[in-house]
Amino acid sequence: MNFVLHGYPVASGITIGYAHLVSTARLEVARYEVAESAIEAEVKRFDEAIRNAREGLDALKAHIPAGAPAEFEAFLNLHRMILDDSSLSEAPRAIIRGRRSNAEWALVEQMEKLTDRFDEIEDPYLRERKADVQQAVERVLKALMGAHTLPDPAPSEEQKLIVVAHDLSPADMILFKRHHFGGFVTDVGGVTSHTAIVARSLGIPAIVGLHHARQTISEGERLIVDGTLGVLVIDPDPIVLAEYRLRQSQLGLERQKLKRLKSTPAATLDGTPVELFANIELPQDVAEVLEAGAQGVGLFRTEFLFLNRDDLPSEDEQFEIYRRVARAMERQPVTIRTLDLGADKSINATARAGPNPALGLRAIRFCLAEPQMFLTQLRAILRASHYGKVRLLIPMLAHAHEIDQTLAAIGQAREFLDDQKIPYDRSIEVGGMIEVPAAALSLRAFMRRLDFLSIGTNDLIQYTLAIDRTDDTVAHLYDPLHPAVLHLVAHTIRTANRAKMPVAVCGEMAGDAAMTRLLLGFGLRQFSMHPAQLPAIKQRVLQSSIRDAAPLAARISRTDDPEKARRLLVQLNA
Ligand code: PEP
Ligand code: MG
Repeated sequence: MNFVLHGYPVASGITIGYAHLVSTARLEVARYEVAESAIEAEVKRFDEAIRNAREGLDALKAHIPAGAPAEFEAFLNLHRMILDDSSLSEAPRAIIRGRRSNAEWALVEQMEKLTDRFDEIEDPYLRERKADVQQAVERVLKALMGAHTLPDPAPSEEQKLIVVAHDLSPADMILFKRHHFGGFVTDVGGVTSHTAIVARSLGIPAIVGLHHARQTISEGERLIVDGTLGVLVIDPDPIVLAEYRLRQSQLGLERQKLKRLKSTPAATLDGTPVELFANIELPQDVAEVLEAGAQGVGLFRTEFLFLNRDDLPSEDEQFEIYRRVARAMERQPVTIRTLDLGADKSINATARAGPNPALGLRAIRFCLAEPQMFLTQLRAILRASHYGKVRLLIPMLAHAHEIDQTLAAIGQAREFLDDQKIPYDRSIEVGGMIEVPAAALSLRAFMRRLDFLSIGTNDLIQYTLAIDRTDDTVAHLYDPLHPAVLHLVAHTIRTANRAKMPVAVCGEMAGDAAMTRLLLGFGLRQFSMHPAQLPAIKQRVLQSSIRDAAPLAARISRTDDPEKARRLLVQLNA
């Protein structure tokens, strides 16, 4: 029987497959009764897991990298103290013995007893230590349960697995890059959250904001994910299944046709060349960038290298990764964005990002507050610049003094390399992301100090409309066609063009074919998007005339009526 759920489409295409339920709440553990004769073995298993977790922390402490934030060690010490406390390391033994519980259950039971007490504490600092107790417990749980097991990669076409989760963090999502899932669906999340962005980069259909998928669907149930419309069909009947199979093969053919455009230069009907770059999260994404025929990397989101690990990547490790990408791109530009940690992408040290992380110590703010970590990355990027055409991109700038401080840090990193006689590209370009309205409204201060601009429409929309991009309850208010957003985007492109300053769009708007003509009409000539989106955008560019698009785009940017903007956009795209 068909049962349909509606959510927000994240990555287009259709997948027909089977549900694989994934829980990120690692603390969701099953309870089972242990046989009387096995109780002491269970206690021993618990003790071993505690010992493993402690040893893991000690090993991390012994190898704290030079650029690690000052809090890192304190944070490890705190977790060690929590694991040493008898209320956690001994009390669960009594639960195992007294109630014949399995070790995982006993541990979580005891943890909940402890964390409930935290909720009653008035001091906000102490109250937040609840998260530390949970994280310390997660370490023990990981040791108890072993590594999270994922199904065998590359199941056959018909057995494609569709990940069904309540929520997935960007860090969880990036782990899925190693596996060949057929699709993703989640109950929560916004369409431009980083979870959605990574899902899109996997090139498989995905839907977020389905609300009740996780609780409605059973493991192994047949599903159809229509990532174009945001429709999830559970247990489809044969007629619906046949219909979707047909649609799926048509989409496959269209995709094959688009691939033929790989070496066709991107230019409009009236002969204006347009540069199409790719966004990447991990070095291995470069293969796809080359496959798509991109003219370079317009955005390398380096913070993903920092997720899913307990330590920080060293300068050498980062250097190797950046060099690998620079070399693979063979002198085509590689735009390496400095760390954009905070908000929905946090390492443990940024857990202190505050009550409103999107407005807190994120991106360049975090880097300037952690100069050692920032300098480590800057040195690594500069060193890699010797091996290709590397450019530096700074996220979330709002103040001129942040640019000045950043340039001073780059100067410091250069001095260090000069002293050590390490080569780097002395004319490396430094650009700034325009993703905070304050930046879009004070462009001159940016253009005086920087070599290029890149508009991050995902955050520009989030911050202009005051909508948390990760929150599905306000996702319906996330509107790229809001007059204020269009005004800021058009103004930034126009102002940069007048000053002959290179400007790109690297937010999701650049990969949306419905927006291509509008952006071309505004004067944009550089687009950066996921490699999978590139062929469709190239096709759109090839079918567009700037002479026709410019007047309509100007009308759209002038109107203060979103409905009229929508109507004009339909006309522009006709
Ligand atoms: C953006 O904000 O548009 C952008 C490209 O950066 P990110 O999505 O990584 O925040
Ligand atoms: Mg951004």
